Amino acid sequence: MKKVKVIKIDVDKCNGCRACEVICSAFHAAPKYSSTNPERSRIRTLFDPLKDIYVPVIAGEYTEAECNGRDIYTINGKEYDECSFCRASCPSRELFKEPDSGLPLKCDMCEEEPPLSEPMCVQWCLNDALTYEEREEEGEEEEKRREMEIGLESLVKKHGVKTVMDTVTRLAKH
Ligand code: SF4
Ligand code: SF4
Repeated sequence: MKKVKVIKIDVDKCNGCRACEVICSAFHAAPKYSSTNPERSRIRTLFDPLKDIYVPVIAGEYTEAECNGRDIYTINGKEYDECSFCRASCPSRELFKEPDSGLPLKCDMCEEEPPLSEPMCVQWCLNDALTYEEREEEGEEEEKRREMEIGLESLVKKHGVKTVMDTVTRLAKH
């Protein structure tokens, strides 16, 4: 059996306060809580007050190539931009990329030892737009790929393995 962690998003309850972005970026800052910057958050709230649109989107997988096609959603008469609900860190946009390094950002469910009772964004959403659930499913636990491995892989794809190795070697000498 494997444990599946789910954050349920109730779009109707989100008022765009962006507390989730603040706490996610602070929790993942190094050192922890040393800074807040929504651009470093693994959850971003799609924001259009004029159309009364607030949709929290949680960062998913890094993808090397953007999609060839696009989707446009109309919900309750409101049209959402192409790619709005996509969770990918993708070359077509700046969303879910570390602003300084360009490395992909991905939600890690705030994994910690000892584990948190609930992810930080859920704890900080006072409107209950985010709620947390765990369930058991058939199947093996997937091997968890750490953030560093995903980041290194994207650097290798961007710059080539030799450049990355040379840089690491140079840094190690300092
Ligand atoms: S904290 Fe909750 S209400 Fe505020 S933007 Fe995030 S999801 Fe929406
Ligand atoms: S679960 Fe944690 S890492 Fe994922 S979006 Fe929420 S605060 Fe960020």
